[in-house]
Amino acid sequence: MTPQPASPRPENILRNFVDGRFVEPDGKLFRDIDPATGRTVAQVHEADLPLVGRAVTSARRALAQGWSDTPVRERAALLRRAADRIEERFEEFVVAEVADTGKPITQARDLDVARAITNFRTFADVIAAAGQESFMTELGDGRRALNYAVRKPVGVVAVIVPWNLPLLLLTWKVAPALACGNAVVVKPSEETPATATLLAQVLAEVGLPRGVYNVVHGFGAGSAGEFLTTHPGIDAVTFTGSSATGSHVMRTVADRVRPVSFELGGKNAAVVFDDIDLDEALTGLTRSVFANTGQVCLCTERVYVQRTIFDDIAAGLVERAAQLKLGSPADESTTTGPLISQAHRRKVRHYFEVAEQAGAEVLTGGGIPELGGDLSGGSWIEPTLWTGLTNTDRPVREEIFGPAAALIPFDTEDEAVALANDTDYGLAAAVWTNDLRRGHRVAQQMRVGISWVNTWFTRELRSPFGGAGLSGIGREGGESSLHFYSEPTNVCVQL
Ligand code: NAD
Repeated sequence: MTPQPASPRPENILRNFVDGRFVEPDGKLFRDIDPATGRTVAQVHEADLPLVGRAVTSARRALAQGWSDTPVRERAALLRRAADRIEERFEEFVVAEVADTGKPITQARDLDVARAITNFRTFADVIAAAGQESFMTELGDGRRALNYAVRKPVGVVAVIVPWNLPLLLLTWKVAPALACGNAVVVKPSEETPATATLLAQVLAEVGLPRGVYNVVHGFGAGSAGEFLTTHPGIDAVTFTGSSATGSHVMRTVADRVRPVSFELGGKNAAVVFDDIDLDEALTGLTRSVFANTGQVCLCTERVYVQRTIFDDIAAGLVERAAQLKLGSPADESTTTGPLISQAHRRKVRHYFEVAEQAGAEVLTGGGIPELGGDLSGGSWIEPTLWTGLTNTDRPVREEIFGPAAALIPFDTEDEAVALANDTDYGLAAAVWTNDLRRGHRVAQQMRVGISWVNTWFTRELRSPFGGAGLSGIGREGGESSLHFYSEPTNVCVQL
């Protein structure tokens, strides 16, 4: 029998979820802040070392009690029920995500929560359709051996996620992990703890056995994140976050040789050729630079424009940036929310200063907007565009993770490719051209995990996703996720 979990939000305290139950808070609490207003929306119980240990132990127990041996069709059915239940509780998830992130309600509905549902349905389909490799080995003299791989779960997977697309990125990992028969201990970002907590309720409601999904709240170093990644009972770590934290986590798990999947930072380029329809390019670029207030790992922060249309693109982007509507996330006409926190705003503003010191011309933005009223305590920032920077300047080399991009001219295709690839990161690129052959040619030369032509953020969840260089290790999505979340045993039978 699955225990009925208590509500995660009585007295507005978000609880840890361990072994199928919300844990009564008996330790430190930290504040969950709405970045649109600066108000506290909840207190969160920070998991200490023993509680993280209990979460890992309960996950191990769930595996031992047979979760991993559940028939694939049952696991797939459970994922589908989870998707249906999120759909039924859709607005609760939307409200929780908006309060935690300040993102416009339309985006939470159309992207974040909608994609969480799709994540569960997609991985239900993927696991249901998955086959296993087999090979016949010719041994000579008519003898043969049959090799076949048996898919097994990796075990207890630590899932550590950031704050920018909290539920979307969490379910992108939890769905395939559960599909493959693993148990998970999830550490949501300290900035956005709510939807991972709600998901605990949903998964219990649809009959996920206790201990298979656990949530521990807290920070990174010296807190739940570190307690989890250093725990000897963890079999694999899947992490989305900054490259610096990824590098740290990698060192942490190296001693015990655990597999890692890292989806890290980006410094993504758009390359705009002069054969493109201007309006189409401007629509795409505006989204790719400013979506989610620039807080998507895939956002464009470097825009390389063929010199012949440079002024037109610059003017068009400035005009479109002026049309973005910053405002209350609850207002359906709002297009742009705040940054996640005051601390993050300090970081983004620092890059504004560095850009100006480097001689950037600020085409638009560069400051803090006055929104007044309830929103005056929020971490708002102006959408910002620069010219006059080059690939050697820090704002063009380092990830800003805000609504800011540098526009840089180029003359030839080779130069554009060289400029776009001149980065330590390698997550995504977008090529804008009406020349079919050039589109393929340039897209394939990009040293990135995903290279778009005439689109941005279009995702096929069965395709591999990940990054090169500082942007990550490994690929997830479709079969690639099954590879990470399962460990095959090859059985070799001489016939
Ligand atoms: P972050 O690295 O600061 O934190 C990510 C998560 O790691 C949080 O849950 C945090 O508490 C935890 N953490 C921090 N230190 C830790 C430690 N020492 N041990 C264990 N856990 C620790 O990143 P962030 O600021 O939350 O997110 C923004 C970053 O995420 C950006 O760099 C962005 O590009 C990246 N990101 C990448 C992708 C992708 O798919 N490649 C997607 C979204 C975001």
